[in-house]
Amino acid sequence: MKQPPITFTKAKGHFLTVTQHRLEVCRNCFRVGLYRQGLVHDLSKYSPAEFLVGARYYTGSESPNNGERRVLGYSSAWLHHKGRNRHHYEYWLDYPAVRGKSPCYVPVKMPGRYVVEMFCDRVAASKTYHGSAYRDSDPISYYRKGQTAAFLHPDTAALLEKLLIMLEEKGEDRTFRYIRRHLHKKPILGGMRPHGRHQTL
Ligand SMILES: [Zn+2]
Repeated sequence: MKQPPITFTKAKGHFLTVTQHRLEVCRNCFRVGLYRQGLVHDLSKYSPAEFLVGARYYTGSESPNNGERRVLGYSSAWLHHKGRNRHHYEYWLDYPAVRGKSPCYVPVKMPGRYVVEMFCDRVAASKTYHGSAYRDSDPISYYRKGQTAAFLHPDTAALLEKLLIMLEEKGEDRTFRYIRRHLHKKPILGGMRPHGRHQTL
């Protein structure tokens, strides 16, 4: 299959989509006190390796990475993205320390602040997807439908689920306030240590 051309209109559409998403995630991150992460969230989407794929496969109705996958059989933009952005659980898949019978990668426990950034990302993406029909229960429904837990370290899954359920039951303001209050209490969130023993928020 031939690659579609890069056009100015598609480049502009992709730029606006990425920038709009980054702004929404940034707003969420600022609400919980993750200022640096909010500012740099998904910045690699402006790098040539990722941006040019968006400018080529932009449709406005699905991720350009899907279009690239259909043509090439894989998405070079996604491979570039997931290897550089720690809020994606795919970044945290590694070989097990002891290679046993399992030939698979294993999920490493994510530091709490990246779990929170992933939460902020999912809330923003759900709002874009559902528009005015968005409800606080949409992010947990999407998480369950995608069977995401299978790819997460159990502690990472527990923390993300806790936040998503809190969002569904108590709403956005209370959940963001809860995260903000607990985020920098190192023993609670695990702070900077990926393998901290006390991680659940
Ligand atoms: Zn991302």
